[in-house]
Amino acid sequence: MQYHHSKDKAEELSQQALDRIRKDGLKLIPQTFELWYAYFSGENPDVIRAIDLLEAKKQTITNEKCDEIYNQFLNRSTQEKQVTEAGHKVQDTIQAMSSQVDDIKSANIKYKKALEEASERLSGNIEMNEIRETLDTVVSSTNDVIARNAELEQELERSSSAMKALQKDLEMVRKQALLDGLTNLANRRAFEDKILQIIEDSESSGQAFSLLIIDIDHFKSFNDTYGHQVGDQVLRLVSRTLIEGVKGRDFPARYGGEEFAVILPETNIDAAVRVGESLRKVIAGKELINRNSGEVLGRVTISGGVAQYVSGEAIENLIERADTALYTAKHNGRNQVTAAPMPSQKYGSQAKSN
Ligand code: GH3
Ligand code: MG
Ligand code: MG
Repeated sequence: MQYHHSKDKAEELSQQALDRIRKDGLKLIPQTFELWYAYFSGENPDVIRAIDLLEAKKQTITNEKCDEIYNQFLNRSTQEKQVTEAGHKVQDTIQAMSSQVDDIKSANIKYKKALEEASERLSGNIEMNEIRETLDTVVSSTNDVIARNAELEQELERSSSAMKALQKDLEMVRKQALLDGLTNLANRRAFEDKILQIIEDSESSGQAFSLLIIDIDHFKSFNDTYGHQVGDQVLRLVSRTLIEGVKGRDFPARYGGEEFAVILPETNIDAAVRVGESLRKVIAGKELINRNSGEVLGRVTISGGVAQYVSGEAIENLIERADTALYTAKHNGRNQVTAAPMPSQKYGSQAKSN
């Protein structure tokens, strides 16, 4: 997982992680450090959920538990292992197919030889019974080859459906690695891949694009009042609103615990603010009702920060500008969307406004 924190923020998070490791008497190893850094950064919803759940159940957080959560959500090699395993299965299947083809090749060579020998025998002066014997041999080796070919066909069919199943598995692993489990939105990793691609597109086309970062207002107290599960329902509701409220190439993602990001290609800052505003209004307009109890929970609001990409700008910078705008929105009373000012001529040529 990549983090885009300023030096100060990184120091603060590192300190929180170290304090926590010390307080819980955990082993100070890189994995445990990364786990707590990820937790305090609020950027990996799965890690937060896993740890919050343990705490809610008043379970001790042991080294083993840390290891387990790290491997489940932060260890890229777990996913890579699945892919490698699938790769090995494909390799085994291909090797089996290849040796099946070898078998049939040598059976066919033998068959060809038998036919040549038969033809040679028949070319001279021969007796009736010799013709019969030769014919018997040819018929029998022909039958052998037909049978072997039918077997091979079946084996190849089996191998081919095994390969198709593997193709499906691989596609699923690939998709799941890019999806957030709770909301089904694109996850942080997918967001990072996508924004790189959109920056590339914007650099080559000269088209503007914007980034909208959204954070739920006072979500902590909402969670504290109604519980994590109801909080999770709200996260799903906000996700659905994002999916339904943006169109075309717009790319919503779950960026952190209760933070979302929407990449808005070919969209300048004014248009991006309009998108943010319309999402904000939809969410503020929804009365929340607890699905299980029917209890009316009131409303939640969101705040948003928008920044338009400037040609040559580093991703971290763009995110930081959107974040600062979000902070301003919070500071000015929440339930609003704020635009980040364009950094003046900092990065060379500027993308066209459209
Ligand atoms: P602000 O308006 O300043 O954003 O206040 P806030 O309370 O929303 O901000 P804060 O960052 O203090 O709290 C975020 C809360 O979001 C903390 C945590 O309880 C909650 N949260 C984060 N991830 C999840 C999740 O996956 N499920 C649930 N239910 N809550 C989550
Ligand atoms: Mg937040
Ligand atoms: Mg919040």
